[in-house]
Amino acid sequence: MRFYVTTPIYYVNDVPHIGHAYTTIAADIVVRNRKQRGGETFFLTGVDEHGTKVRQVADTEGVSPQEYVDRISGAWRELPGRIDAEPDFFIRTSDPQHAEFVRDFLQCIYDNGDVYEDIYAGLYCVGCEAFKQESELVDGRCPDHPNTPLQYLEEKNYFFRLSAYQERLLALYRDRPDFVLPSFRANEARSFIEGGLRDFSISRAGETWGIPLPWDESQVAYVWADALVNYLSALTYARPGEDLRETFWPESRHLMAQDILRFHCVYWPAMLLSAGYSVPKQIFIHGYLLLDELKISKSLGNAIDPLELIDRYGADALRYWCARAVSFGQDGSASLSGIADRYERELGNDLGNLLSRTTAMVARFRDGRLPERPGTTDALAAEIDELAAESRAAIDRFDLTGAIDRAWSLVRTLNRYVTDRKPWELAKDEAKTAELDQVLYDLADGLRVAAVALAAYLPETAPKILDALGQPHDLAWENVAYGRLRAVDGVEAAPPLFPRLEPPADADAA
Ligand SMILES: [Zn+2]
Repeated sequence: MRFYVTTPIYYVNDVPHIGHAYTTIAADIVVRNRKQRGGETFFLTGVDEHGTKVRQVADTEGVSPQEYVDRISGAWRELPGRIDAEPDFFIRTSDPQHAEFVRDFLQCIYDNGDVYEDIYAGLYCVGCEAFKQESELVDGRCPDHPNTPLQYLEEKNYFFRLSAYQERLLALYRDRPDFVLPSFRANEARSFIEGGLRDFSISRAGETWGIPLPWDESQVAYVWADALVNYLSALTYARPGEDLRETFWPESRHLMAQDILRFHCVYWPAMLLSAGYSVPKQIFIHGYLLLDELKISKSLGNAIDPLELIDRYGADALRYWCARAVSFGQDGSASLSGIADRYERELGNDLGNLLSRTTAMVARFRDGRLPERPGTTDALAAEIDELAAESRAAIDRFDLTGAIDRAWSLVRTLNRYVTDRKPWELAKDEAKTAELDQVLYDLADGLRVAAVALAAYLPETAPKILDALGQPHDLAWENVAYGRLRAVDGVEAAPPLFPRLEPPADADAA
């Protein structure tokens, strides 16, 4: 089972904000889940370093574009580590191997007769790095970059015959209904294609910061014609001496927010077909996290630094909140105060307290000994079987919220189980020893299952739960099954998983 997941390469001139963290966390969750299921995986992220805006800023600062991107790519390199994401490779489009690959790729398209020369005249948005049609403008401005005046450009460019791919793209969408998910996004892409495709420029004249075209070095590749190719180029040099295309192409799942749907769902598959490649397996478009009613996208500059949330709540809490605050795949509003609430009520009480109470009762009533499985509690066994199947199926649909909701309902069941069975009362009655053993076993075993089922979301917390229960760090998905708790001695009351936090100093300001 091969699984290759990508985030977009982020535009290096931005600062990392919660929108980028959101996509990267989602990609990390699906890839960690695949690893638990024994899949061969590859996870790619990185930065897009070319483009006019980068060169302009470097010019103003009096440094070369390369020096400039070397300096500012640092914050991006740190992002995955801070949110506990583990990409296999971090690509930069200024990598010489990427440039060489892009030149070969574009040469294939050129050799196939899909490139021609023409004059382009029109309004260009440097923010989008795209020409804009009048019909796309709002008050004469790019709706995503209202503060960036459009430039009138007239230049000789090389064009890609996108129009020649209309029928093949429509056939792709017809034959593979799950090529783009969720399906309302596939419909969006399909109606754009049905509306008629215009050829697009794949080069820029008079720009120096980019990859020179192999057949005309006076022009550089248009940033998107350069950036999209990263999903392939990285596979050729991420592991020296190996060509991972053989293993992972086209097993690729591209994850992104809706603002770059058209580039990925229309331009990219057409370019791949032209260059003789298969199209990716799947493209998943998620919505925006609407934080307190503000659109979190790279364009509007209302960046909220996810790293600030991590300093207070930890990476696991941020990951948990991203997965639960808004149904993944939909737009939805989430409030930053929601993270505090979920930290306390759900992570702290539902999960953390359950572990503390369970381990404390094992320590007090059984001298820290968890026995062999005394018997089977059918209702719990059935619920865990369902969780294993449903959570897995949900993740395969990129329903990251559905999958964690399913796991969380086990946590809630276990809390009700404590309340209903009252182990502290069973402990007072010698005749109920066997019953107490079963209840404590079920709680510890249920927590073990929850740790495995939540491990992709809470990679720091899951091993702590297993440690507290004296269990090995075996996160294989097959362990999402009832009754696999190992007998151990020496269980002690576990410290809080998510300790109570003092109110933030600037609580009023927030
Ligand atoms: Zn724009």
